[in-house]
Amino acid sequence: MEDTIAAIATPLGEGGLAVIRVSGPGALQVADACFEPVGKSSLKPSQAASHTIQYGRVVRRGEMVDEVLLAVMRAPRTFTREDVVEITCHGGAQPGEFTKRAFLNGRLDLAQAEAVADLIHSRTELALGAAQEQLAGKLSQRIHQLRDEMLKTLAHLEAHIDFPDEDIAPDTRDKLIHRLESGLAFMDELLRTANEGQILRRGIRTAIVGRPNVGKSSLLNQLLGHERAIVSAIPGTTRDTIEETANIRGLPIVFVDTAGLRESGDEIEIEGIRRSRETLAHAELILHVLDSAQPLSLADLRYLAEFAGKKRILVCNKIDLPRRLVWTADDENVKPPLCVVNVSCITGQGMEALKDAIKELVWAGEIKAEMLQVMINSRHQEALKRARQAAQQTIEAMRSDLTLELVAMDLRIAVNAIGEIVGRTTTEDLLDSIFSQFCIGK
Ligand code: GDP
Repeated sequence: MEDTIAAIATPLGEGGLAVIRVSGPGALQVADACFEPVGKSSLKPSQAASHTIQYGRVVRRGEMVDEVLLAVMRAPRTFTREDVVEITCHGGAQPGEFTKRAFLNGRLDLAQAEAVADLIHSRTELALGAAQEQLAGKLSQRIHQLRDEMLKTLAHLEAHIDFPDEDIAPDTRDKLIHRLESGLAFMDELLRTANEGQILRRGIRTAIVGRPNVGKSSLLNQLLGHERAIVSAIPGTTRDTIEETANIRGLPIVFVDTAGLRESGDEIEIEGIRRSRETLAHAELILHVLDSAQPLSLADLRYLAEFAGKKRILVCNKIDLPRRLVWTADDENVKPPLCVVNVSCITGQGMEALKDAIKELVWAGEIKAEMLQVMINSRHQEALKRARQAAQQTIEAMRSDLTLELVAMDLRIAVNAIGEIVGRTTTEDLLDSIFSQFCIGK
C-alpha cells in the first residue's frame, strides 16, 4: 500500500489518446521527474493545485516523448484516496508497429508476421488454426526449402558462368532441369491452397434471395444463431442489406440479406434494391429461399432463371406447413444437378443438412489438417505465380541452350519472388502495405 503505482489506464489497442495513471505517495514526485510544464500558467505537478490540469511535455533523458495534459489530484479527494496524477498522452503506435519490429529484428519472418494479422481477424476456429500454423512457421519452412533448392541450382549455374570454358554436361543439365521441375510442382501444390486460404481469411460472400415473406430474414437468424434481422409478416421490411458472418462447419460464411428485389416506388426501397443488385453481383454463393407452402410463382421462376449460372442452393422453407410447392421437372432452370434442401425456420428442421450443403459447395472435399498448415494468401499467391513463370522460363531457356547468363537471370527472378513471401526480399512499400492492415497496439 506504500508503493506508488502506475499503469496505462486506457485499453490497449487502437486509440488516438491514452491515459497513464499514477497513484500513491510518490505520484507527484514521479510526475515531476518526467513532466516539463510549457507556457506561463503551467506548473510542475508538485506545485500545482489539486484538481487542475497542466500542459506540457513528457521528457526522457532530455528528449521530448510526447505533448501531454497532466491532471493533478491530491489525496484524499481522489479515486484511490491517494495522490493521483493522470497523464493524457497520444496513443502514438502505428498499426502493426510491434509486429513490424519483431519482423525487422528477425523474430518472425514476413509470412509469420502476416499470420499475426490473420490470427486477429480470424472468424472461425478453423481460420484461427490455420493462422496459428502459419505463425508457427509451417508455411515459412516450406518456402525456405523451396528457395534453398532454387538457390542451389542458381549457384550451380553461376559457377559455370564464372568458368566459361566448362560447358554444363548434358546429364548435369538434365539434373538441374529435373530439380527445377520438382520446384514447379511444389509451387503448384502451394498455389492450389490459395482458394481455401482465401475462404478462411475472407469468408464466402453469400446472398440470401427470394421473394418477400418466404423467410429470408428468419433463415439468416437461424444460421447466425441469434436474432439479427427484423422478421415481420409485412412484405418488404428488410430495407437495408445487412451483413454478418456465421461459422458454418468451420468456414466463415458472410451472409448478406438483401432487400426484397421487387418493383417499388418507395425511395428507400429503391436504394435497397440497388444495393441488393450490387450484393448479388459479388456473391459467391446464393441461397434462394422458396416458400414450400405456396405454389411456385412467377417471381420464383424469375429468380430460378436469374441464378441458374451461379453457385446456389434452393432452400425450400416452411416445411412445417402443408406442402403446395411443386416442381415442374421439365423446367430448364430446375434441372439437376441442383442442390435442394428442405427446411423450416420455425422448427429448425433441415438446418444441419443446409449447413452441410453449404460446406460441400464451397469447400472441395475434406478439410485436411495438413492443408491448414499452408494456406497461402493472395500476396503469396501473386509472388508464387511470378516465381512459377520465371522458373518455367528458366527450364525452357535451359532446354533451348540459351546462354547461361540469361538462364541465371530468369532463375534469380524466381528466387527473389519466393524470397518475398518470407521477407528475404522486401521493399519499404511492401512492408507498409502489409503492416498497415494491422491494428494499433499489435
Ligand atoms: P422475408 O421477407 O423473406 O425476410 O421473410 P421473413 O423471415 O420476414 O418471414 C416472413 C414470415 O414467414 C414471418 O411471419 C415468419 O414468421 C414466417 N416464417 C418464416 N419461416 C417460416 C417457417 O419455416 N415456417 C412457418 N410456418 N413460417 C415461417
